[in-house]
Order: sequence, then structure tokens, then C-alpha cells
Amino acid sequence: MQAEASFIIRNARVLTMDDANPRASAVALAGNRILAVGSEAEIDAFSGPDTHVIDAKGGTVLPGFNEAHMHIFGGSAELRELSLAGVKGFDALAKALRDYAAEYPDRALLIAQHADYTVLSDDERVTRHHLDRILPDRAVLIFAPDHHTAWANTLALKGGGILEGRDVGIGNEIVMGDDGLATGELRESNAIRPVSALGETGGREMLGVGTGGDPEHVTDEERAGDIAILKEGLAYVASLGITSLQNMDGSLYQLEMLEEIEKTVGLPVRVRMPFHMKNFMPLSDLETKAAAWRARFDTDRLRSDFVKLFMDGVTESGTAVFVDDYAHQPGWKGEPLFTQEQFDTITIAADKLGLPVAVHAIGDGAVRMVLNGYEAAIKANGKRDSRNRIEHIEVVHPDDIPRFKELGTVASMQPTHPPGSAGLPLEPYLSYIGEERWPYAFAWRTLVDAGAPIVFATDWPVSPLDPMHSIECAMSRTVWKDGLKDERLSLHETLAAYTRTGAWVEFMEDRKGMLKKGYLADVVVLSADIEATDVTALATVRPVTTICDGRITYQA
Ligand SMILES: [Zn+2]
Repeated sequence: MQAEASFIIRNARVLTMDDANPRASAVALAGNRILAVGSEAEIDAFSGPDTHVIDAKGGTVLPGFNEAHMHIFGGSAELRELSLAGVKGFDALAKALRDYAAEYPDRALLIAQHADYTVLSDDERVTRHHLDRILPDRAVLIFAPDHHTAWANTLALKGGGILEGRDVGIGNEIVMGDDGLATGELRESNAIRPVSALGETGGREMLGVGTGGDPEHVTDEERAGDIAILKEGLAYVASLGITSLQNMDGSLYQLEMLEEIEKTVGLPVRVRMPFHMKNFMPLSDLETKAAAWRARFDTDRLRSDFVKLFMDGVTESGTAVFVDDYAHQPGWKGEPLFTQEQFDTITIAADKLGLPVAVHAIGDGAVRMVLNGYEAAIKANGKRDSRNRIEHIEVVHPDDIPRFKELGTVASMQPTHPPGSAGLPLEPYLSYIGEERWPYAFAWRTLVDAGAPIVFATDWPVSPLDPMHSIECAMSRTVWKDGLKDERLSLHETLAAYTRTGAWVEFMEDRKGMLKKGYLADVVVLSADIEATDVTALATVRPVTTICDGRITYQA
């Protein structure tokens, strides 16, 4: 007697991501596991009276996508806010904001997202005066796509109590004007938070990134509202074929809400969430929080088993850290958020506790400091299978490229982030880093060729979450100048960075990331055969069915 399948997916072009058995035409699932992967005849043998048959109609079937770097709470909250993506010029900005204000007359703070640094023009930055001219009597806050910079109008600055400025700590800045008042530009989360706290969610969705701490005095009603926001976000994540997400900010508040969703209706996506270590936290937090959360949240569906840090900010606001000066600002290299000694101490301690580390590092100086810290951990504790990672790596110094392989460091990168990709402007980024660094910017191919394990993601809500759009960006990127190296990856490499390697980074390669007998039943059925689809049309291929843990979590 054969076991009976709960689901059979047939008429499919199955890319298993399992090198021992790369292709098949059908898959059988039973409970939350994969029962078999093979030909239609082989798989039909598992059919029984209760089997649900899915006809893939010739479309590609893959292991569910693993989004290796995103922010679920912030992303979910933004689904309710205005997007300014593609808006250019004062008049267009004014119309978008005024329409939004009219639609939501009761919102105490109007938040908009994805305003390019050049939303007004290539050489004029937004100030509170522009926003005052658009909406003088409503508080407004608009974010740059990277979320590291935001601009507020006078009413919002007053509401947040920062019109006269305030010390917001290293790496954060309320930009001040010649008149002694804030210009409206706010750099990094400590500067933004006083204003964002005026919004619908009280800015709670930003705390994980900002402080790693929990909100104070949350009412039951507010918490229920936050859970509703998270549920909307999780459903959206599942609708894009994603079955695993690795969050890159963390807090107990979020973990407990996710746990509640899991216990009541079940999480539609597997969630991995870090302990977020900030530079003001005591080292003992690694034991009393990070290791304690690891013990408490340790299922295949919700786990907290790593440490996240930020080493720098972003290039556009001058907060990224470079080995040499910014090209447009001699004498300035950026200022790291940890000293090398501080960071080494943390990394060594985390490594001793068996906690993997993931660090945001944009500039080549920050990347180097993180690599130094990983090297220090190996020297102190001996080499272990740590799967430490670096997030973004927008610029890498050529001397550091081989160190990824030597240290076993994972490159976690975002195909949607290079200027020129996904509709992003080339400036001011290209002038800020300067032409000499262009060959080492967003160097996916270079790092892969040098033996670095690579995972891909979008950093949602920094860029659109859709993996198919991101895959298209990874495969269709153009060079900034003739003669620069082609950094594109192949379809198979890109898919691996979205499935198998992501599972490996999570230490779950024995049960997910591939379609293989006995593995977790995490599957996405796509609307077309992606191998037969032109690269520039990949984003038009849509998820039709998402199955996570043997349950349909999305059906087109
Ligand atoms: Zn991020």
C-alpha cells in the first residue's frame, strides 16, 4: 500500500533545487512533508480519494521562496500608507499628498513612502518649507525608499518636539538650518521616531529597527490593531510565493504577536527573527535575551536564533562608512555605529553562545569592520560553522573580496537596490561613491565567483517584496558604464539564492529549500515556465498557489 497524498501537483516543470534530482514533472505532498518528487506516472500512484490535485498547466514549480532580509511589521504597516514611487517634481508630489490627505481626513500624521532623494529635482532636497506649501495644516512625514532618511513639515516637527533640534545620538541627525530650526530632513531612526510616533501605529512598527526594544503602555486595542496589521502583511507575503521570511529587526513585542497568530490561526509563512543588538545594550543581553529567545521560540514555523546589528547607515545620507573618503565630500568617510573593539567583543561572545550574527554594512569600511569581527571570533573561539552574514554590501573593498570565502561569511544582497535597477535613480549615489568604486559596488557576480555563499532578498519595505521582480532585477541589471564587469547571475544561481541557500543560512538545509522526499511541504506554483520566459518579462510571471507546511496559504 502506497501512502496517500494530500496534494498532487502535476503537469508541472518542477525545478527541485536538489542537484541529485534537479527536474521532475510532479510532486506529492502528505501532511506537512513532501512524499515524492518524480514523473506524473510515479506521482499518480500516490493519488487517493481525498487527494487534492493541482494542475500546474506547464508552469514552473519551485520550493517556496525564502526572503532572506525583510521587515514584516514595518512592511505590513506600509501597506496602509501612500507610496510615492515614481512621483517626480513638486507638482506631482503636491497632488499625491493632497489627494492622500483628503482621503484620510482623520489621520493625525500623514505618512508617505518611497520618495526618492531627488523627488523634487536632481539638485534640490526636500525641506519642511516645500511640505508646508503643500499641506500647511496637516502633519506630514515622507520617507526615502531606504527608510534611513525622512522629511517632515513644520507641523510634524513641532508635534514631535524637534523643530528646535535635539541630540539624537551618533549616526542620527536632525538636520538644522541657518535659521536655527530643523530643515525637515531627519537622518536615521532616532531622528525620525519623535515624528513617526504621532502616526496611527505610534511608530511601533519602527521600534524593532530603531531600538530593538518594546513599546511602552500599549493598550489591548492598540495591540489588536498591530496584530491585524501583521496578519495583512503575512497574507501579502504568502501571496508572492514566499514560505520563509528572515526578519532583520527583532523585538519581543513582535515575537509574541507572531506567536499569538501562530496559536490562533497559524502563521502562513515561516518566520525567523533576530535579537537586535544596539550599541547601548549591555553584552549580557546576548545571554538574557538572545539566547533566552532562542530557547523560547524554536519551532520550524517561528524561531529567534540569531543576532542583528547595524554597523553603518546609508550612502545617500552620508552615514555609510567607507575605507576612503566620499567622492563628493573630501574628509568624510562616515562614522561607524560600533568601534572595532566593541564589535569584536560582541561577535566573540555571540559566537561562543552559538548565535549567528547578521550585520548591516553598506560601505566598504563597514564591511571590512564586520569581516574583522568575524575573524576575531575565529581567532578567539576556533573556527565553527557559524554562517555569519553581512547585509547589503553595497561596496566591497577589493582586498576584502577573498575574505568572504576564507571566513565562511554569507553575502546577503538585494537585486532591487543598485541605482538604475527597479526604477531607482543613478544620482546622487554614483557621484557619492565615485567612479573608482563602481567596479566594487553591488558586486554579486564578483562575490559568487570568489566563493561567497549568497542569499537574495528585497529588504521590504525598502523595495517591492515580489521575488519574481527581484529575480528579474538580478538577471537583467545593466552596467553603469561600458567596460564594467557584468554582475548578473544566472537563473539557477538566482533561484538558489532565493531558496536553497536561504534554508542553509538558517541551518535548515536538511528539511527545506529543496523539493525532495521528506522535506517540508513548502511549494510555489508559478503561472508560466520561467525557463522559457524572457528575462525582462520574469516579473509578469505570478504565483498561482503557495503552499506552506502542507497548507494552501495563497490561491490566485
Ligand atoms: Zn533591512
